[in-house]
Amino acid sequence: MRGAAEHLIVRILIADDDAVSRLILSRTLQTWGYSVEQVDNGDDAYEELMKPDAPTLAIVDWMMPGMDGPEVCAAIRAEGPEPYRYMILLTARTETEDLVHGLSSGADDFLSKPFNQEELKARLRAGQRILNLQSQLIEAREALRYQATRDALTGVLNRATLMQKLREELDRTDRNDRNLGVAIFDLDHFKSINDTFGHLAGDEVLREVTRRVGGVLRHYDAVGRYGGEEFVCIFPDTTADGLFSAAERVRKVIAKGPVMADGALIPVTASLGVAITADPCEPESLLGAADAALYRAKESGRNRVELAFEVAVPLRKAS
Ligand code: GH3
Ligand code: MG
Ligand code: MG
Repeated sequence: MRGAAEHLIVRILIADDDAVSRLILSRTLQTWGYSVEQVDNGDDAYEELMKPDAPTLAIVDWMMPGMDGPEVCAAIRAEGPEPYRYMILLTARTETEDLVHGLSSGADDFLSKPFNQEELKARLRAGQRILNLQSQLIEAREALRYQATRDALTGVLNRATLMQKLREELDRTDRNDRNLGVAIFDLDHFKSINDTFGHLAGDEVLREVTRRVGGVLRHYDAVGRYGGEEFVCIFPDTTADGLFSAAERVRKVIAKGPVMADGALIPVTASLGVAITADPCEPESLLGAADAALYRAKESGRNRVELAFEVAVPLRKAS
């Protein structure tokens, strides 16, 4: 039964110029629960298989008008390995050199005409195994790629990715004629949160704070972990006023209420330093200016936003 359920979602493209052969093959596949699409020449087969939502399995006749089967396979492979199309060549040829030619063109497997039902079933199952393995590999790779850019505790950008993004956004200010704003925020008296409620509760506070902040950013803003309990927000295309009110939103949402962690209600606030530039500069100098402002925010009582003094170049007006 499991086999039938797996078949339900699988789509197969049949490319064959012989209408009778196509009919027999498609009926058989439909009886087994496959969803079948059909074309009668090689050019259409190639075009269908190039579509992003194309069937991942294809049974392609060797001799067809337009591109022949091996040519279709070669053209598909030339487009690169993803998304993978599992190609079965349908052929009356059985000579070794034909098989070698077909396989070296990029076919995954052969099916000889007239086909034997049990053999076809087994070959399709083998194809699906390969496709399943391939999609598991892609999923694992994408998960790794995501993890490599994220901070493990909070899920926000990690420091390396944050700095890379900041560098990219700074380059873009030049091309776009836009200002770029940053905010560094640092949780207030976080050491005493750890000391009072424990390190795990402290971790939960960090996670909740980043969730809160993520909720008030525009979709093209970004937030990353700069270190310990210090985070950086990047605000592309903003003004000094816009930046200040965005930072105020961040400050307020962090302080909006205590965080529930480990059975305790933990009050939390943060101090922010913000800086803005209209010109590309080193990320370190923009962050340095924001950091000096953060220091003043701490000095003047915490749970507040301070704007950097040194804005090196005239800022651009709101767009
Ligand atoms: P201030 O208001 O001046 O920023 O005081 P503070 O206590 O927040 O600053 P301090 O730099 O003295 O302490 C920061 C603390 O943050 C110390 C460190 O153990 C804690 N910390 C850093 N990273 C983590 C983490 O991943 N999890 C937890 N639970 N604590 C962390
Ligand atoms: Mg702190
Ligand atoms: Mg700190």
